[in-house]
Amino acid sequence: MQLRAPRGTNDLLPASAQAFDFLEQAAHRVFSRYGYRLVETPLFESTEVFVRGIGEATDVVGKEMFSVLSPQALARLCDGSAPKADEQLTLRPEGTAGVARAVVEHGLAASGAAPAKLWYRGSMFRHERPQKGRLRQFHQIGAECIGAASPSADAEAIIMLMRFFEEAGLASSLLRLLVNSMGDENCRPAFREEVRAFILEAADGLCDECRRRADTNPLRAFDCKSPTCKEVMAAAPRITERLCDECAGHYEAVKARLDAAGIVYEEQPLLVRGLDYYTRTVFEVQVDVGLGAQNAIGGGGRYDGLIAQFGGKPTPGLGFAVGLERIVLALEASGGIPVSPLAPQLFVAAVDADSRAAAFALACRLRDAGMRVELDHQDRSLKSQFKLADKSAAPWVAVIGPNELTVGSATLRSMSEGAEQQVRLDATEDFARIVNTMKEGL
Ligand code: AMP
Repeated sequence: MQLRAPRGTNDLLPASAQAFDFLEQAAHRVFSRYGYRLVETPLFESTEVFVRGIGEATDVVGKEMFSVLSPQALARLCDGSAPKADEQLTLRPEGTAGVARAVVEHGLAASGAAPAKLWYRGSMFRHERPQKGRLRQFHQIGAECIGAASPSADAEAIIMLMRFFEEAGLASSLLRLLVNSMGDENCRPAFREEVRAFILEAADGLCDECRRRADTNPLRAFDCKSPTCKEVMAAAPRITERLCDECAGHYEAVKARLDAAGIVYEEQPLLVRGLDYYTRTVFEVQVDVGLGAQNAIGGGGRYDGLIAQFGGKPTPGLGFAVGLERIVLALEASGGIPVSPLAPQLFVAAVDADSRAAAFALACRLRDAGMRVELDHQDRSLKSQFKLADKSAAPWVAVIGPNELTVGSATLRSMSEGAEQQVRLDATEDFARIVNTMKEGL
């Protein structure tokens, strides 16, 4: 049987890996302008990090976590005893909980200090039903700003997110930015109760899952994909009409900052995000091309209660994450990914066996000088080395044969024009000057 990648995972073959790299570079350029610095937290954490951080009643924690067992924990489980608490580990389903845990563990957001502005990139794991744009191992870039309560921090993060999409090549005309406020511990509990009562009242028109949600997590019913549930929930009470004065003021101030920055957004009072930790501002970016049902390419919000959940002093925070697979699908559907194929700049070809050592030495020298150089390792004839060079899209071929060895030079041929010139084998700078004049493939 041929072995295959597990269901819901993708091999990142060079073209995809390069596209992801391009997105990471774009994030790095944009986020650093806003003072965000890269962090990396472990791919797995104590299960408790996600249970506490994301919330037990969420789909992610309730149904989608890949938990991992060490051999010792597995042995204990097989013996009928429970794994120890510190042996219960889970592959991260999202990045915020791990970053929040790290911020508390390392005291990165001490009170009075500037907020910790951190960004991350990497794999996330959720046991979902795979479909286009929905995987079990997927990749996110995310950013967290921990320690700032002001609405200007929310607006700054949203502006940075939209600038990232622009930098990545997604025109803002293709994107829809939805914003909402989910209230806080003052106004949300009463709203939850109201929605719970509404669900119980409207139970006949709702799916089983939404009926169950009345008790576990009523606000999730706003997020149900079933068209009939959507129709019913459209008549449910709206959080924006139930916000306390502080939350309403915060929401207005965020919108005013976005308006002033010329950011186009739609208020979406039914937008609730799938994770329990959000308070006040929530937002999502959807795209019109390439994705079908899974059209959310990023989202986030404020989570003022999260740091305290990890044993830190109450500290406000906010963040967002974007999904790289979905951004690449949208970019492909909207005209391609602006990444260079990194073709070799020069192919070194040897005419016969005696010139191979000199060809190899030249390739090594030019690579050490910073050029992308390719050569044959399969003892091909000169003709098929030229075919190989052509296929690799190298714009120049340096030919070395008995005649060249006698005079200590290579014949450098332009693949597009066929013109040839002699370049001394030791004149590395001449090679660099000539191949660097070609812009293609650089
Ligand atoms: P979330 O962490 O659920 O807020 O998701 C943030 C972003 O990650 C989404 O907007 C998607 O672009 C992406 N995403 C979430 N889940 C998946 C998945 N299962 N497969 C691919 N991308 C995902």
